[in-house]
This record gives sequence, C-alpha cells and structure tokens, in this order.
Amino acid sequence: MAVRKVLKYGEKSLREKSKEVHKVSRKITDLVQDLLDTMYAQNGVGLAAPQIGVNLRVFVIDVSSNDEPLRPIVFINPKIIKKSGAIVSEEGCLSFPEAYTKVKRYKNVMVKALDIHGHSFVTEANDGSLLARAIQHENDHLDGILFIDHCMNRFDTESTLEKFNLPPLEADKLLEEPELEQELNDN
Ligand code: ZN
Repeated sequence: MAVRKVLKYGEKSLREKSKEVHKVSRKITDLVQDLLDTMYAQNGVGLAAPQIGVNLRVFVIDVSSNDEPLRPIVFINPKIIKKSGAIVSEEGCLSFPEAYTKVKRYKNVMVKALDIHGHSFVTEANDGSLLARAIQHENDHLDGILFIDHCMNRFDTESTLEKFNLPPLEADKLLEEPELEQELNDN
C-alpha cells in the first residue's frame, strides 16, 4: 500500500483517545498494510494508527531481528487483560526520533485482540521481553498515552527531549504508577 508520514510528538492526534473498530473492513486491512509498510520503512518494532493520524484502535508489532523472516502481529481493539511484575528499560518511539529514555513497564502482559481476519486471539508476553514492552507501548498510543509519561526520571527525559529538539514534557500527563513503583522497590 503506502508508507505514511509518522506524526511527531507535539501533534494533536498522538494525544487523542482512539475509537474502537466496528468491522474489520477493507478500510481497516488497508490501514494495517500502511502501518506495516511504514513501520518496516522506519525500522520500527511497532506502530500504532494514531501515529499516522488515524485515531482507531489498531497497532502492529514485529520483534523479529534483521536476519529472521518478518513476523508481523496485528492487534485490533486490543485489551490488556493481565499484567504483573515491573521492569525499567530504555525505550524509544518513531514519533520521537532518536530520543530514548528509561521507562517503567510491567514485565508480563496478556492481551486479547482481533487479528486481521477479525478473529479474536489471546497472546502472552513475559519476562520484560521486547514484545511485552512493545505491546504496552503501542496499546498506550490508543489512549493518547506516550512512553515519556512513564519515565523514570523526568529531568533526564526533559533533557533528552530538549537535545533532540522535541517539545517539553507535559507535566500533567506524567503517570502515577504506585503498583509499578512498589514492584520495583521490592526487587
Ligand atoms: Zn510509540
């Protein structure tokens, strides 16, 4: 289909709540193809529809490495139905070119979604794997939440954003995550 322009931090649709997909129609399968084409063109691990300006609950992920065959996973109307553990790791986002910062995530997630054929599936990702973190990152995009909202250290994140000429942190968007903090303190 087409490689689309990826919106950068500061653009409005990145902060909007996306709508459920009612039917996996041709419009949706075309959208998924555009997401995959754009993600692969940018060497990304995941891409959510709001990042190309479409506020629908759809994202794609591919955690295969360069020497492996492609392994795209399509998530439509995803819901994280279980989460546990906590991990801190560096994260980036195609909407924040070059900017990486440490964020808090759950280690394990179970997610339920529809695939490209409109069939429901459940998948699990554990041990703070790239897939586990990517699912949380992309799922957040559907609610207008960005990875910087989960940052470990707002001063570090602030200086990273500044360094890459991105807009500043939005203090009112920073998340309180007592459950994650507790887990991190216990370990
Ligand atoms: Zn992102």
